[in-house]
Amino acid sequence: MECANSKLPLFRKYPRLRDHLAHVPLGSFPTPVEKLTKLGDLIGVKNLYVKRDDRSGSIYGGNKVRKLEFLLADAVIGKAKRITTFGFAGSNHTLATAIYARELGLETTAMLLAQENARYVGENLLSSRYFNAELLHYEKILSLSLAVIGKYIAGKFNRTSAPFFIPAGGSAPRGIVGYVNAVFELGAQIASGEMPEPDLIYAPLGSMGTVIGIAIGIRAAGLKSRVIGVRVIEERMAGERKLRRLFRQTCSLLRRADPDFPEIKFLPALLHVENGQLGGGYARCTESAERATKLAMENAGLKLNGTYSAKAFAALLADAEKNLIGDKTVLFWNTYNSRDLSAFASQVDYRDLPGDFHRYFTKEVQTFAGSD
Ligand SMILES: *Cc1c(COP(=O)(O)O)cnc(C)c1O
Repeated sequence: MECANSKLPLFRKYPRLRDHLAHVPLGSFPTPVEKLTKLGDLIGVKNLYVKRDDRSGSIYGGNKVRKLEFLLADAVIGKAKRITTFGFAGSNHTLATAIYARELGLETTAMLLAQENARYVGENLLSSRYFNAELLHYEKILSLSLAVIGKYIAGKFNRTSAPFFIPAGGSAPRGIVGYVNAVFELGAQIASGEMPEPDLIYAPLGSMGTVIGIAIGIRAAGLKSRVIGVRVIEERMAGERKLRRLFRQTCSLLRRADPDFPEIKFLPALLHVENGQLGGGYARCTESAERATKLAMENAGLKLNGTYSAKAFAALLADAEKNLIGDKTVLFWNTYNSRDLSAFASQVDYRDLPGDFHRYFTKEVQTFAGSD
């Protein structure tokens, strides 16, 4: 499990991290960077690039794979048998966990919160089932929290079946290290001339680990970029205090593991949270996200998602229209899986899921293309 570790761009720069941060290769890295000439010309951004994390895995891509390479390695070392993790009903994170945990011989329990319906929700649920996840549905955060406490206590009394908890979105410090490493990967691509150094990096902000990791990575790798985290979830679930705490905890983890890792301050000049694209809330598609989805598909063949990546791209579009970008080099970090799940989803009947999930198949979905 360790043999590919020496190749991790982050470990090459900070070799002592390798002794403290377990890592298991699960995805396909480096992900490509591409210039989006046609789309860029159309929106008046001459130097527009994309980081294709939608292709981070051969079965299932997206931004959770990088986090799971560290989180699941830690679970294996801890001799865990079952991962218990969290998300909304259509969670990309719990699906990614089910898929990649299974490759390592681990089972997954997904504790899922009710959400706004959208087309991808049903497909993710069916695919999670196909990959053997145990799916539990909760209407309210309070009932979910009580269930977690119950599981935790039960685990304490029965050590052999104690669950290995991974927080929503995989945004624990160890998972976030996956995105610190991602910036070192990008740094190597910049050094080899695949793209110039970006001034601005746009990515969605959900459980916040992705943009926190990118921000820490920018400083540690010595890049000049600023990351724009585009809020896709309500502040009460992902606020400034939690953002700063996760940032600090991830830096401490890295500095404990390798004292050569630099001290990094949280600064708005490094990580800016853009609050203007949330619209009606989490997983509610907006007109701007709909427009972003169409533009990206028609002019760059990129498949965006109304819950996450389309809102991030819509923020980029809005900044371009306000003339805030000009000649700057911009990188859109594409976090949404683009692998086709239909072969898995089509083998499961929704009526075989627990009854609480049937609503995502019988109730109407949003009609926006971006809710796909
Ligand atoms: C989970 C997710 C995000 C949000 O990333 P966080 O690290 O949770 O902030 C963005 N895009 C997609 C497609 C996701 O599934």
